[in-house]
Amino acid sequence: LRERLAGSQGGFGRGLLALLSRDRLDEDTWESIEDLLLTADIGVAPTQQVVDNLRTRLRVDGAEAGDPRSVLRDELITLVDPTMDRRLQVTGDDGKPGVVLVVGVNGAGKTTTVGKIARILVAEDHTVTLGAADTFRAAAVEQLATWGERVGVEVVRGAEGTDPASVAFEAVKQGVEQGVDTVIVDTAGRLQNKQGLMDELGKVKRVIEKQARVTEVLLVLDATTGQNGLIQARVFREAVDVTGIVLTKLDGSAKGGIVVAVQRELGVPVKLVGLGEGPDDLAPFDAAAFVDALLG
Ligand code: GDP
Repeated sequence: LRERLAGSQGGFGRGLLALLSRDRLDEDTWESIEDLLLTADIGVAPTQQVVDNLRTRLRVDGAEAGDPRSVLRDELITLVDPTMDRRLQVTGDDGKPGVVLVVGVNGAGKTTTVGKIARILVAEDHTVTLGAADTFRAAAVEQLATWGERVGVEVVRGAEGTDPASVAFEAVKQGVEQGVDTVIVDTAGRLQNKQGLMDELGKVKRVIEKQARVTEVLLVLDATTGQNGLIQARVFREAVDVTGIVLTKLDGSAKGGIVVAVQRELGVPVKLVGLGEGPDDLAPFDAAAFVDALLG
């Protein structure tokens, strides 16, 4: 994780540490600290909170009161919230499969994430079926089929333009018949408008729930999209009950503070992070490991 998060985001943690390690923490320095947190996409209120806490803990009566590194580590971990339950619920009730619905706009990394999750579950000896309900893009269906072959799981697909709900229905039906542990459904990311999205995802969810329980609704967000990603997140939250966030492309030039911002926005944890395009580049999210990677 540490190596993959190197680059500009590591720069934000390390940059903060460098500022906090100065001999004198004057007002200019605090301002730079604030700017750095804001630039990292943490958000205004959390930035204020962390700056206030750092000021109190590092500058009692003008004298340094704590080791900057451990105080900063502590504050950042608190900000990311180590108490959230980040485990994936992948199995259902009464021997029926758990259904993991994967949502997000096109290009966020949904299909790739579905493939990577399947790979992790198969490695843990779970049986898995995939549903290619992103029927508006032929390429997405092909891409998922390739993942299916690679991971060795079945992919249920419909013809291009088929109703996504009917593909989701078929995938779950087959999963129930074959007694698999988990069905992962890749959905279409057409964010034409909130009502359209709600109708579509609502329908997909309803047809699934006739047969098995939706145990997770994972919202895939591209970490490099910053505030735009937050606006998307809001629309999806209103359309469907999101249970967890997958933050992709954290390996790129992303600003890691988006983890904090999006969790606050949605009130649900980041459960997984995407760290590259390869099959192994998906990791469970861990607050302490993340902060350690930021601090280098
Ligand atoms: P979808 O339209 O949401 O299904 O997105 P795709 O799964 O097709 O991904 C879009 C692009 O992002 C592809 O080129 C993926 O290889 C790439 N991608 C997905 N996840 C990651 C990630 O964690 N890191 C990087 N660097 N690229 C990713």
